[in-house]
Amino acid sequence: MHSVAEEAIEFPRTVPPNAIVPGVRNIVAIASCKGGVGKSTVSANIAICAAQSGARIGLLDADIYGPSAHLIMGIDEQPQLTDKDRLVPIVRHEVAVMSMGFIADENTPVVWRGPLLAQAVQQFLGQVEWGELDCLFIDMPPGTGDIPLTLSQVIALSGAVIVTTPQDVALEDVERAIAMFGKVEVDVLGLIENMSYYDCQSCNKRHQIFGEGGGKAISRRLDIPFLGEIPITERICSGGDCGSPVGTSNANERGNFDALAGRVLSSLKDASDL
Ligand code: ADP
Repeated sequence: MHSVAEEAIEFPRTVPPNAIVPGVRNIVAIASCKGGVGKSTVSANIAICAAQSGARIGLLDADIYGPSAHLIMGIDEQPQLTDKDRLVPIVRHEVAVMSMGFIADENTPVVWRGPLLAQAVQQFLGQVEWGELDCLFIDMPPGTGDIPLTLSQVIALSGAVIVTTPQDVALEDVERAIAMFGKVEVDVLGLIENMSYYDCQSCNKRHQIFGEGGGKAISRRLDIPFLGEIPITERICSGGDCGSPVGTSNANERGNFDALAGRVLSSLKDASDL
């Protein structure tokens, strides 16, 4: 079902054995304080790069209000059911992908409010035939309201990664996200700053459109690891739009996501040593 690299890395289990997803060794939430910061783009590309490194990786799009993993990953079919009516993830770019968007219609987000939605995600998670995974990334609904809070509570997370952009207002929200994960005792594995700069090919200058060094500074202040930054590029944007994410290419930006994936996976190994 899932392409497993021949020399799969031996990953420790940092999630307590979980009856809902017994074969999944780690579940990592990718969260953001608001929509549009690139959380889904980062989730998809990190998942792809992690899979390319030999880990067995899944991606669940739980962003019910704007599911986009299927678009970014280039999936236009519906998942199959097993003979026991369990959903089979669609494997794309070596990642086992499942999306709440597959089972939702345009009215669903209205019906599933707050904790009810969190319960629906939890139930959905358990109906998927994930198989054996080293890490399942969950593209979380944005924000720090009821939904991400309850979700973080009901899913046994190994940790959370927060994606932000460098503006001051976005950075203020990071504090709220950290407080949210603190409330439910989920480790924050680190902060990723997206859209950090734009390297202009015409004038050969770097433009820090949304400010400089904000992500690093807030990581230091809040004492969480700064995992890295990602530039604004046309290739990252177009790759997401046309189902050919940059993580699958040889473009320079792939290196940014590769490094981030490595840091996230190794932070899980560290966590298991505690
Ligand atoms: P979110 O999941 O936080 O709502 P998305 O990942 O859907 O955000 O990204 C929002 C838009 O920004 C998409 O069109 C995406 O292609 C674009 N985008 C995200 N990150 C970058 C980047 N580093 N460079 C260029 N475009 C980006």
